[in-house]
Amino acid sequence: MAPDAAVRGAPWLVLTGERAKAVLRGGAVLETSVRHVSALGPDILASELDGEAIIRNLRRADQRRAVGEALLDQRAVAGIGNIWRSEALWHARVSPWLPLADLDDTELHEVVCEAARLMAASRDGGRPRREVYRRPGRPCRRCGELLLSARQGDAARTVYWCPACQAGEGLGKA
Ligand SMILES: [Zn+2]
Repeated sequence: MAPDAAVRGAPWLVLTGERAKAVLRGGAVLETSVRHVSALGPDILASELDGEAIIRNLRRADQRRAVGEALLDQRAVAGIGNIWRSEALWHARVSPWLPLADLDDTELHEVVCEAARLMAASRDGGRPRREVYRRPGRPCRRCGELLLSARQGDAARTVYWCPACQAGEGLGKA
């Protein structure tokens, strides 16, 4: 938040800098909107993707958390947005509803690599084709099944997936 922003309630700690203010309300999460102040995970678009660090971060999270939700957690990996988490999961054939505990490191790594590949292509003007994003009710281009969409996680962002070829269907399981 901005350095002059009003702080409500009785936080444990308020850090005020020249360009930002951060508020600790308990627990281990420092609220801030400024990139360089918060503890972000490795950048998905880094020139050398730090897949091992990203997987370590994902393993530190609650393993009951759905992978589709975990991919949007900027503390684990910075930069994956709503479009590319759905697309990466489709390419890796992983259901967004699978708990992290149900994926091994190789599978997680593949999802992260697909996100990095697609996002780098998009950044570089390659316009990767959208396979699932905003295509609910239309056939999966890999298997023909009709694609689904649903809101997922605390932020209730809409996730898109194929219930047939993304293993571990289980809407609402997470
Ligand atoms: Zn499919």
